[in-house]
Amino acid sequence: FDMFVLAFVERVFRPTYKKDDLVLGKKLGEGSFGVVYKAQLAKKSSSKDGDVVVKKATEYGAVEIWMNERVRRACANSCADFIYGFLETSPKRGPEYWLIWKFEGESTLADLLQSKEFPYNVEAMILGEVQDLPKGLERENRIIQTVMRQLLFALDSLHSTGIVHRDIKPQNIIFSEDSRTFKIIDLGAATDLRVGINYIPKEFLLDPRYAAPEQYIMSTQTPSAPSAPVATALSPVLWQLNLPDRFDIYSVGLIFLQMAFPSLRSDSALIQFNRQLKRCDYDLIAWRKSVEPRASPELRRGFELLDLDGGIGWELLTSTVRYRARQRTSAKAALAHPYFDKEGLLALSFMQ
Ligand code: ADP
Ligand code: MG
Repeated sequence: FDMFVLAFVERVFRPTYKKDDLVLGKKLGEGSFGVVYKAQLAKKSSSKDGDVVVKKATEYGAVEIWMNERVRRACANSCADFIYGFLETSPKRGPEYWLIWKFEGESTLADLLQSKEFPYNVEAMILGEVQDLPKGLERENRIIQTVMRQLLFALDSLHSTGIVHRDIKPQNIIFSEDSRTFKIIDLGAATDLRVGINYIPKEFLLDPRYAAPEQYIMSTQTPSAPSAPVATALSPVLWQLNLPDRFDIYSVGLIFLQMAFPSLRSDSALIQFNRQLKRCDYDLIAWRKSVEPRASPELRRGFELLDLDGGIGWELLTSTVRYRARQRTSAKAALAHPYFDKEGLLALSFMQ
């Protein structure tokens, strides 16, 4: 009963917007399926509106609105705050879905990773200050650990809701300045298996740089979408059989790798890494054996970081980047991994 009351209250009191309420500003991004702008809400209706982000999306806009509404209700803190979505018909371009989010901040994890200062730039953002501590592997490891914990926490809540993101990459992770945490954005390629929304794999939407080798979520034995009611009854079983959430885990593993190894942060280096890994049959341990003997000092430093505390970071990495989805850890299990036993960033200063 409470649920109905809440839904009713929200329908009556939640502010709604239309095109004329928005003043579009700087373009933040442009993909094949939409354009993203920074914007202002002209009508400052309720509380703390201010800066927002607007995406004008074509084909997949309806799915993206649906996913954002679901996330807003089920696991709000894992993704950027969704404000509202509506359909607008442009005389020139036809139907367009408009999506509005709170403007979470200026930097994605991709921006932060490209800086020479990484991971210290992230430390300053999370703590809101620069710590007066010596730089070194141990400190870098704590910062990376804190980012990984935040990412896995967000992924675990998405997965527990039944949503697989399918496009996890540094460009789709935004640093929320208010909560001082990383949040996931861009649910345009996401799928909700529990209700059969966007069930048919759209391989062409996936970013090959971060995609797991299976490329698509479901096995070829389940190629088409059952109708919604059937999917609802069936999907927990399919989830168990196919472990579609492990697709995101592979991507988050590659992000972990890029955080640990500065030399793997550029697009070209990541593409080359993917080629090498494929040649090693996706066996990270074999990859390490092949590159370590002639590794640059920079690459060697990455291994050193992952080898801290008895190689617990390396162990976590190898349990995410694996060929078979079944052998990859889940987000929930990863959070319980001993890599996270040590206190993160905040405790570092107290230890000195
Ligand atoms: P695309 O489909 O173009 O990849 P995204 O949803 O990933 O669309 O958004 C594009 C870019 O816009 C992001 O990489 C990020 O820089 C910025 N952006 C998106 N959402 C937000 C937000 N809520 N707050 C701040 N910046 C955002
Ligand atoms: Mg994106």
